[in-house]
Amino acid sequence: MPHLVCAPPMTARIIDGKSIAQRVRTEVAAGVKSFREKYGRMPGLHVVLAGDDPGSAVYVRGKEKAAFEAGMKGEVHRLSASVSAEELLSLVRNLNADPAVDGILVQLPLPGGLPAQTIVDALDPTKDVDGFHPVNVGALWSDLPGLRPCTPNGCMRLLREAEAPIASARALVVGRSHMVGKPMSALLLNANATVTVAHSKTKDLPERCREADILVAAIGRAKMIKGDWIKPGATVIDVGMNRDENGKLCGDVDFDTARERAGAITPVPGGVGPMTIALLLENTLKAAIARST
Ligand code: NDP
Repeated sequence: MPHLVCAPPMTARIIDGKSIAQRVRTEVAAGVKSFREKYGRMPGLHVVLAGDDPGSAVYVRGKEKAAFEAGMKGEVHRLSASVSAEELLSLVRNLNADPAVDGILVQLPLPGGLPAQTIVDALDPTKDVDGFHPVNVGALWSDLPGLRPCTPNGCMRLLREAEAPIASARALVVGRSHMVGKPMSALLLNANATVTVAHSKTKDLPERCREADILVAAIGRAKMIKGDWIKPGATVIDVGMNRDENGKLCGDVDFDTARERAGAITPVPGGVGPMTIALLLENTLKAAIARST
């Protein structure tokens, strides 16, 4: 009788975004301490929140608390949903001119009718800690120094912490938004990955996924990427934040089946999410240092 050996099913390593984010926040807090000793002031993060979207309010409270815990001065400018574009622009100009302000973040989406791009364009690029100002977008695509968008930058940190080879890897980014998909693809390209960007018009998405050594999902569709779309051993970064049929938070990747094939994978929650705030704090400290030297 032949001697049969059944290989155990592979289970991916979990990339623990929560603890990596905590490490980043500890590093930032140490940097803030040195900054305060050297310059005699706290780095200042100013968040502009217009309207009463409950999701945005929760995110903004989280950012304020995180800034405080890192030893920064965090301030939230709460405006009514009926604020005019001119009032918002005037606030942005005042914050641009205020030497105690190092980072400005305009919480998006803005209430309907407000011209988000015009507001972002008005930010001082050196204080644009979201990295969405055209100067920072250009710097990213030119691989020049600048402030990088927090969520994709956090994904890069997760890839590095997971020791996923990036240079020469085949990377697929599913999603091409200005906030996540596009900057993610630029960061991967700058790190010498061979990058494909997929979107809602892409044909044969499962096949494109199966070719990817690194798969980043930034779609906004619960559990859309199935386990058998994953290349065995691939590193999977799930940016998605959705609710499943039971109202439970879940990603764009079907985690339970994907972890049987992936080499490493981020969970939702506890993966990319905590990194976004950590990288926002890092950007604020970077902006403060750059403006003080
Ligand atoms: P957008 O809605 O702006 O973009 C979604 C992208 O997915 C689009 O490019 C769209 O393609 C693409 N897409 C939609 N359906 C499909 C499909 N069937 N096949 C392939 N591609 C598809 O979303 P965001 O980029 O802002 O966010 C994506 C997800 O990430 C969301 O779940 C969001 O909540 C989450 N997120 C999480 C963050 C975190 O901190 N963890 C931060 C930011 C976002 P097309 O361009 O053709 O329409």
